[in-house]
Amino acid sequence: MSRFNQPLGGNEMPRFGGPATMMRLPSAPDATGLDVAFVGIPMDIGTSNRPGSRLGPRQIRDESRMLRPYNMATGAAPFEHLQVADIGDVPINTFDLKKSVDIITAFYDDVLEKGALPLTLGGDHTLTWPILRAMKKRHGPVALIHVDAHADINDTMFGEKVAHGCPFRRAWEDGCLLNDRVFQIGLRGTGYSPEDFDWGRQRGWTVVQAEECWHRSLKPLMAEVRAKIGDAPVYLSYDIDSLDPAFAPGTGTVEPGGLTIWQGLEIVRGAAGLNLVGGDLVEVSPPYDPSGNTALIGANLLYEMLCVLPGVPQGRAG
Ligand code: MN
Ligand code: MN
Repeated sequence: MSRFNQPLGGNEMPRFGGPATMMRLPSAPDATGLDVAFVGIPMDIGTSNRPGSRLGPRQIRDESRMLRPYNMATGAAPFEHLQVADIGDVPINTFDLKKSVDIITAFYDDVLEKGALPLTLGGDHTLTWPILRAMKKRHGPVALIHVDAHADINDTMFGEKVAHGCPFRRAWEDGCLLNDRVFQIGLRGTGYSPEDFDWGRQRGWTVVQAEECWHRSLKPLMAEVRAKIGDAPVYLSYDIDSLDPAFAPGTGTVEPGGLTIWQGLEIVRGAAGLNLVGGDLVEVSPPYDPSGNTALIGANLLYEMLCVLPGVPQGRAG
């Protein structure tokens, strides 16, 4: 009997039964005693286009039911090395986005105070800014791997400073980021001006547009990312719309010409060995995901994040 929590197995309880937690792990009231806490943020009031990501955490949990404990590609066995549980959802104020971001920061202050590393089920991308504010208090400014079709560095949307197109502008303003160690991967689509993706570059960020990723493995890119980040604390923010809509159509702001699933896996697996301090998977919108595939891919990417956290040996080269 392991001293660590285990996901409920498919031979103990049918996959369509059991607790509706991430990977059918035990639930916990807070992060006390945990190495890793799965947290849901059921929020879409920062969304500018198609809504629905408020239902993302619940659907990702549901589609995570099929996940087994061992990573057959990398050899990682996270549940032999980490105490993991699902601590439920952040009680955001669904009528007030500005109050909600403060609720999120306070929630993550508590998770980090208790010594757990948060992996977040979103929710719209607004949520990464308040998480990064909590990260800064705990770790100082962090390196960032941001995978997305969009830069999310707008100053305002409809005159508002808090929106899902603004989180990394706000995080930069708040001094949350190590600017020479910020990587934005997968950006594409139409813009308001030809310079839309240059704002980050002007701040020292590395911006890798989707077209630079086409038809190639991203392992060399991730080797470069690891070399530049070194041992700095790093946060991984994964917007599911980074993937091509052929793979992940169930999201609010769809852009064609995106990453493949295997490139997404290369990015997350390529974060092994880094000093990861947290991660999120955002923008899954179940109303646009009738097959559940987008949420299922999101659940798998969150599991892959768990597999590369510090303290999890990598059994085989990924
Ligand atoms: Mn985004
Ligand atoms: Mn996006």
